[in-house]
Amino acid sequence: MDRKKEIKNKIKAARKKRQYSVDEYMNGIIKGDRKILGQAITLVESTKEEHQINAEEIIDKCLPFANHSFRIGITGVPGVGKSTFIESLGVHILNKNKKLAVLAIDPTSNVTQGSILGDKTRMFHLSSDERAFIRPSPAGDSLGGVARKTREVITLCEAAGYDTIFIETVGVGQSETAVHSMTDFFLLLLLPGGGDELQGIKRGIVEMADLIVVNKSDTNPDLAKKAKQSYRNAVHLFPMKESKWPVKTLLCSALEKKGIPEIWQNIQDYERWVKDNQYFLSNRKKQAKYWLKETIKNGLGTLFLQHPKIKEKYPELEEKVMEGQLSPFLAARELLDAFK
Ligand code: GDP
Repeated sequence: MDRKKEIKNKIKAARKKRQYSVDEYMNGIIKGDRKILGQAITLVESTKEEHQINAEEIIDKCLPFANHSFRIGITGVPGVGKSTFIESLGVHILNKNKKLAVLAIDPTSNVTQGSILGDKTRMFHLSSDERAFIRPSPAGDSLGGVARKTREVITLCEAAGYDTIFIETVGVGQSETAVHSMTDFFLLLLLPGGGDELQGIKRGIVEMADLIVVNKSDTNPDLAKKAKQSYRNAVHLFPMKESKWPVKTLLCSALEKKGIPEIWQNIQDYERWVKDNQYFLSNRKKQAKYWLKETIKNGLGTLFLQHPKIKEKYPELEEKVMEGQLSPFLAARELLDAFK
């Protein structure tokens, strides 16, 4: 009986929840209303078509107010200290009068129920500070989909006045490229372990980094210094970055909040550097071009799979491909012909 009552109340509450118009959403967001921002993000993340249409309109209206931020990607293997680091660096920059949004891309989150940013206890100060906005990774079937949503959420957060955006991702290999394609600065966190094997981090990811930070340097200062030296040597062997930025390796203890001001200084120096040499703008343009293409590819994929002829033929051809009776290329050709 109680349960029934509870459900009834929930339905009542849901009915009561105000539905905003697109203009109300936009006005709320640009006024910095966190509740409306949160609800708009929920629309972005929804798979319902009507929500997506609304979300697209809201994003479009917010665009003129967005773009005035610096976007920082933060990656590292699970346990390296990303949450702790984001809390320490985040609090440091709030004290510099910044407004911070912390987002995440976690392609595994629908399996693990949000393995990153799920646990806000390590971001205690940030999550209770009005000047910070924390949003866990959207769930999704594909990394591309999850990443696209995060990219859209960036626009909404920027329109809401967040001038610094952190995007956290688990350093396991696939999501870094997505994060790199939507950030201005890419920070790689490493442990003070043996420098040469790079702790399972792929060389490509190290090459993407604009700053390498050896965290947990309090646990073993000597080892941390050695690691710093060997990462520095490794970085020297990489080709020069397009931004011409000389990548540094710094030590840090996120737990003891040591090394944080130096890291923030490095990020600010970078921002000035790339704005002076025009790389900032050319990189943003390149990223916009990339997302245009990605979104079209994604939309075409959905259209393709929803086409009645494809729906009819696909399962049978897929079966044949899996059984080795038909090559994937021929099957794709047949389906594409049917679509055309
Ligand atoms: P994440 O999985 O990368 O987000 O890592 P967490 O921030 O959750 O940290 C994993 C563990 O490492 C936690 O127990 C933290 O308290 C600890 N930790 C994080 N940073 C430091 C640090 O600088 N020094 C020490 N000693 N421990 C740290």
